[in-house]
Amino acid sequence: MTLPLDEKYSRQLLFAGVGPEGQRRLLSSGATIVGCGAIGAAVANLLARAGVGRLRILDRDFVETSNLQRQVLFDENDAREALPKAVAAERKLRSLNSDIHIEGIVADLNSRNVQELLSGFPLILDGTDNFETRFLINDFAVQSGTPWIYAAAVASYGLSFVIRPRETACLACLLGPEGALGLEETCDTVGVLGPVVNLVASFEAAEALKILSSNASALHGRLISCDVWTGRLQSVQPERNPACRACAQGEYRYLHGEAQPHITMCGRDSVQIHERGRVLDLPALEKRLSSTIPGVRQNGFLLRFQVTPYEMTVFTDGRAILKGTKDPAVARSLYAKYIGA
Ligand SMILES: [Zn+2]
Repeated sequence: MTLPLDEKYSRQLLFAGVGPEGQRRLLSSGATIVGCGAIGAAVANLLARAGVGRLRILDRDFVETSNLQRQVLFDENDAREALPKAVAAERKLRSLNSDIHIEGIVADLNSRNVQELLSGFPLILDGTDNFETRFLINDFAVQSGTPWIYAAAVASYGLSFVIRPRETACLACLLGPEGALGLEETCDTVGVLGPVVNLVASFEAAEALKILSSNASALHGRLISCDVWTGRLQSVQPERNPACRACAQGEYRYLHGEAQPHITMCGRDSVQIHERGRVLDLPALEKRLSSTIPGVRQNGFLLRFQVTPYEMTVFTDGRAILKGTKDPAVARSLYAKYIGA
């Protein structure tokens, strides 16, 4: 039985800022959410329930038990099955709202697939956990004139800011040409609280609803930062940098993928191995590896095995995440040994 739309969105229809016209606009709009960890999952949850008509969710990772404390779309079964987050999120969101189109894509956003994955949506939402990907989103957004919303949280602190190319500051204006790539503190080193993630995601989702319901005049234009432990809440209006390499000079170095390294750090004590254009037959690989390694598991999306002290997870596109080392040489040699050179 189809649920009546007016009833589903009744409390949002009553809200003067949305109303029936705003709701129609939301239903015919869409957004891409890059990264479906804590902030991405929370923002996807809010936008799916609000009736944003098309949601594309990109994520490169799979659900683990340590995610459940703050990643609201996932449950213990998802962690037990090691489902890719994009797949688990798509399933959960479909059960929350069957009126909208939800597409989960298991992929690592990079300079080679950015045009294909981010084109065709009027808004991009940040659910990533690293500045490399944020600068890639920023370059794409500024070049294509697409608004995007920056959001981040670590420990009890978080921030969010709407970037409208050439109207507001962009990420390169905020962080300078080299950005904050040297930032040491991450959720893997100092942890993160569920409440700050949900607060930041709420600021991000509220601005998204304004943009997608054609209420751009309601955007507050401020960078909001908050700390749920101290109760401090601040907002500033960042200035554009007239010499910004991205939004002033049109220099999009991240789009040109000036050397995405073959192996990158990915969380504490793990590395990601990027493979171009390799397609893996997981059942065949499972069969081959099982003859020498006990406990090889695959679920159609990824295959995982342990060779103490390492744990390797390989995806169908050939990408792999190796836990237990930060050493690219170790990662390269294990990949070559078990998956292929
Ligand atoms: Zn800029």
